[in-house]
Amino acid sequence: MRDINAKDLVAGAEKFSDLNIFITLDNDWLENHIEDQKDTEGILSGHVVAIKDNINVKGLTQTCGSKFLSNYVSAYDATVIKKIKNAGAVIIGKTNMDEFAMGSSNEFSAYGPVKNPVDPERVPGGSSGGPASAVAAGIVDYALGSDTGGSIRQPAAFTGTVGLKPTYGRVSRYGLTAFASSLDQIGPMTKNVRQNAELLEVIAGHDSRDSSSADVPVEKYSKILEKVDPKNIKISVPFKLLEKGIEENVLQAFHKSIDLLKGLGFIINNVELPHLSYAIAAYYILAPAEASSNLARFDGVRYGVRSDEDAGDLNEFFSNNRAEGFGDEVKRRIMLGTYVLSSGYYDAYYLKAQKVRRLLFNDYRAAFEKSDVILTPTTPGSAFRLGEFKSDPLQMYLNDIFTVSANITGIPALSLPLPVSNGELPVGIQLSGNVFREGTLLQLAHFMEQEEKDISRQSSDIS
Ligand code: GLN
Repeated sequence: MRDINAKDLVAGAEKFSDLNIFITLDNDWLENHIEDQKDTEGILSGHVVAIKDNINVKGLTQTCGSKFLSNYVSAYDATVIKKIKNAGAVIIGKTNMDEFAMGSSNEFSAYGPVKNPVDPERVPGGSSGGPASAVAAGIVDYALGSDTGGSIRQPAAFTGTVGLKPTYGRVSRYGLTAFASSLDQIGPMTKNVRQNAELLEVIAGHDSRDSSSADVPVEKYSKILEKVDPKNIKISVPFKLLEKGIEENVLQAFHKSIDLLKGLGFIINNVELPHLSYAIAAYYILAPAEASSNLARFDGVRYGVRSDEDAGDLNEFFSNNRAEGFGDEVKRRIMLGTYVLSSGYYDAYYLKAQKVRRLLFNDYRAAFEKSDVILTPTTPGSAFRLGEFKSDPLQMYLNDIFTVSANITGIPALSLPLPVSNGELPVGIQLSGNVFREGTLLQLAHFMEQEEKDISRQSSDIS
């Protein structure tokens, strides 16, 4: 095993302290942990993993990016943490994130925004801005994030890294602090596709502690990457949806990559996803509804913030604690969610959104009868400037246009960086597949990554 020591790891991470990537880096805990891990041999031996701060690691503070949990120390390991420990990994610490994973810019953390390592004046995306930046800055090659509406894929696209949201149920959610339980998945965020396959291979699989986890065999994803035959992977693109609202640099990089795939012998068809334009509206009803219910547990009685303010009665006591502990975006979601679930509005909003969910599901089911992979850009634009959308939540929500439908329907989706010219901001392409077809997504992504490398090698030879 590679010699890993706590001091060097912490010093390596602290070189990037201006970017505000970590919430918890605990030297003493790390020393003990490295000692515990030293004889564990596995596929991740010698590798260091950064963990989003909503995944429980025993003995480390878990804030979920919130003031509410600033003093909460995890009493147990999430299932994914047990699995990566068993595979030999070393956990460096807990990374920054939008509060309770709500956001697309990492500006909604009580611990301050994360800055994008590619351009520190820009956001790294959210809510997994911390793990994505830890990988992009080169502090680690592997990180674990969570994705409820795009929080793995959008930061991956903004930072030029690889992020995969697995099929709902592919990875155990035991030990992940719930945001919207029917949409949440933990997934791998890495420098390249091979590492992504390795990390997925380790964390995937059935867990009796999560009743929604699926009992479906786990492939050896890292061993099947080379087996790609263009004739066997049918690709489609919803061309009509790309006609407006997408920035020029994203469109250019996307079309270049489509042309490259065509040149390599892939057949690319058009696909209609008629209900995709309703996905954002449905998501921003469903996710807040579930969040308002999940976050009801944070009342300041058993753990978390307790206000010093005098309370006249129990309700006022809860209100004081919650008013002090939660930030603006979380409050906005709780109010929205409570509203759409309230009697009189339930049918008009929540039930309607559930119906849209079914229609979207049917769209994808039909699409996957004819194709294996659907390609879109991951986001309509590249990383935006810090502060650009912070006070305009609706504009911020529109960033999730291509990502939310994978969570609404439960399918897997991966964001892969596309080649861009020197000095340009990263652009991500999203590969979506049918349920439990992570293997196909990883194969195609790996193939594209190798081809892109060859092309940039050739063009640098010429110049
Ligand atoms: N940006 C989306 C939101 O704010 C997705 C968040 C996520 O995937 N955790 O809800």
